[in-house]
Amino acid sequence: ATPTSIMVGTGRAAELGVLFRKGDALQALQSVSVVAFDKTGTLTEGRPDVTGLTLLEGDETTLLAMVAAAEATSEHPIARAIERAAAERGLALPPVGKSRAIAGHGMKAEVGGRMLHIGNLRLMTREKIDPAPFGAPLDALAEKGHTPVLVALDGRPAMVIGISDPVRPAARRAVEALHARGVRVAMVSGDTRKAAEAIARDLGIDHVEAEVLPKGKAKIVEALKAQGSVAFVGDGINDAPALASADVGVAVGTGTDVAIEAADVVLMGGDPAAVVTALDLSRRTMANIR
Ligand code: ADP
Ligand code: MG
Repeated sequence: ATPTSIMVGTGRAAELGVLFRKGDALQALQSVSVVAFDKTGTLTEGRPDVTGLTLLEGDETTLLAMVAAAEATSEHPIARAIERAAAERGLALPPVGKSRAIAGHGMKAEVGGRMLHIGNLRLMTREKIDPAPFGAPLDALAEKGHTPVLVALDGRPAMVIGISDPVRPAARRAVEALHARGVRVAMVSGDTRKAAEAIARDLGIDHVEAEVLPKGKAKIVEALKAQGSVAFVGDGINDAPALASADVGVAVGTGTDVAIEAADVVLMGGDPAAVVTALDLSRRTMANIR
């Protein structure tokens, strides 16, 4: 590749909303055989909504206000959905004491002197909270492909919040276009298996990895490399290790700064289908100079 053709290629890409942060990414992208996508915020809108509440113990309104207060300290898109649900009900949020995020699991926080755990089943296992009472509402949500958010108060199961995050219309186009170019498509998600599989099936994705911890995303990228060169497309802080591990790391422009910093390529508009634009440009540029 001549420096001039790379410059022309990256310039043309920028006009189309694709920022190549490194010249060699333009060269590397042409030969990827697998594109692996993060789910939340990449293939989905990343703007999930609360679909329903199932109370297991206590008072629903009080509990939702406490959960929303705790989630106000979180950056996760799920947290925004829960805050909105509380706002729609006109709930006043109580003050929050200590709080902390637990990557890939959820969060915990002190609210009004009580301990709240909010997250997935793995969080409850980690915190040695009895998962049995969550069982029925969890299954019902999973059946619909919704994400269950489990809430425990002082170590006791208290509520299950249903969350659903619409798939981006462009995601379907992206998968189809990649298939048409002979590229395999994978999805890697921290979400529950059933919710992840429901979306993958809908989009025609070839390979799904679910319930993956942030560190695990990078390991999966390494494993996918056995099938050829791998591009990873993601948006979150939790995607940074995978973006760095991939042969080509691609961040959606609506993503976090951490993801953008870790990426070789940035899709400015936040449209995951722009990865196909990037691939086509890469192939064309490289064909011209060969
Ligand atoms: P993803 O981008 O796939 O959601 P994360 O590692 O950020 O991956 O989160 C993994 C899972 O942990 C989420 O799907 C959710 O079940 C749970 N989780 C993370 N943060 C929160 C939060 N603030 N509130 C509730 N659940 C959370
Ligand atoms: Mg994400």
